[in-house]
Amino acid sequence: MQIYFSTLGCKLNYTETSALKQIACNEGYTVTSNVYDANIIVVNTCTVTHTADKKSRYAIRHLHQLNPQAAIIVTGCYADTDAEVVKSIEGVTVVFSNQQKQNFAQILKKLSEIKTADNNNNFFKAYSVGGRTRSFLKVQDGCNYFCSYCKVPFARGRSRNVSIKEILEQVKEIEKHQVKEIVLSGINIGDFGHSTGETFLELIKALEENTNIPRFRISSIEPNLLTYEIIDFVLKSKRFMPHFHIPLQSGSDIILKQMNRKYTKKQFIDKIEYIRSKSLDAAIGIDVIVGFPGETEVYFNETFELLENIEFSYLHVFEYSDRKGTKAFELNSKVKDKEKKERSVLLRNLSQQKEKAFALKFINTRRKVLVEKKHDSHFITGLTDNYLNVKIPYNSKFINEIVDVLLICWDAEHEMLIGKV
Ligand code: SF4
Repeated sequence: MQIYFSTLGCKLNYTETSALKQIACNEGYTVTSNVYDANIIVVNTCTVTHTADKKSRYAIRHLHQLNPQAAIIVTGCYADTDAEVVKSIEGVTVVFSNQQKQNFAQILKKLSEIKTADNNNNFFKAYSVGGRTRSFLKVQDGCNYFCSYCKVPFARGRSRNVSIKEILEQVKEIEKHQVKEIVLSGINIGDFGHSTGETFLELIKALEENTNIPRFRISSIEPNLLTYEIIDFVLKSKRFMPHFHIPLQSGSDIILKQMNRKYTKKQFIDKIEYIRSKSLDAAIGIDVIVGFPGETEVYFNETFELLENIEFSYLHVFEYSDRKGTKAFELNSKVKDKEKKERSVLLRNLSQQKEKAFALKFINTRRKVLVEKKHDSHFITGLTDNYLNVKIPYNSKFINEIVDVLLICWDAEHEMLIGKV
């Protein structure tokens, strides 16, 4: 949990803020200087003049606007003298007096109990079924990352989840629908465990040990949260499919920093190389954004070269678009639409080449295909364990079954492999 402090007024207030910071650290919080990262904002107010009152109210409102999901705690002289007014300001969760500053540790404990209860109540459990071969199971919601281009944390709130125990119960429900594959979904699923003190690795281990669904797939996971342990586990597992979808967004460290992403280009490459050192067969999908403000030709080329030099199986390319209320919206050096289009065409072409090259490697090999639907009167289609699209001659008994398929050639028109049972 991260905590941000804002101090107004005299030196004493600043001194007391450093004591509060110390208490927060002792309680296991990390003090952040970036309000967007904070779970809790503490405003230490001042009331020496009317202007000081006004500044205190403004600071609270402004911080709440910047990070509406954070709990706001207000203390200091203005909180002492006008507690009722302060309590009525939107976003304020707790107001405490100067005398209560010594009880800050207890206040933080109380607040985290309230937040945990809130988070659980606000988790809308969801999974998709309905005669489907695959089910999308939501295991996590919200995000604490505040990437500078993204509005999701404002719209969906903080990272939260239900417990592994509850997820196992949901999987038991899904099993009753004959579903063959569950895709674990969320906004930032690698961050699973924020509200329950568990980890994503513990979740996938529990799913493997306690359920009977034949296949699990992880939807998308941030490179900094995709640990070596998760990679090892997935690649050894018989039921977690060898498929990693990892957002890169930019291959330039300067742009990644502007995006407020939590990894460097090197850290991303290390994860890809680690996967490839363990498996040449695993599917690797990557998200990229083109045309982020300040993305010069040189920075774009860094992204292109990075992608050219790694072995992935598909790209999802997004053109940056301005979202009011984000930090990126305020940035200058916007990239022209024409350039965004050109860059996205270049990456889409690269994606097609890589996708085909990856698929062709598997010709004359056998893979397990989960057959999903009818393609036309002659063929049915499905996905291999490593996320290759395959069509095989029509046979209704194969639908919603996992079938051992020999991959024989490439269908250029539909950009998929053709196989036979
Ligand atoms: S891009 Fe993803 S990780 Fe970043 S803030 Fe949005 S949801 Fe969170």
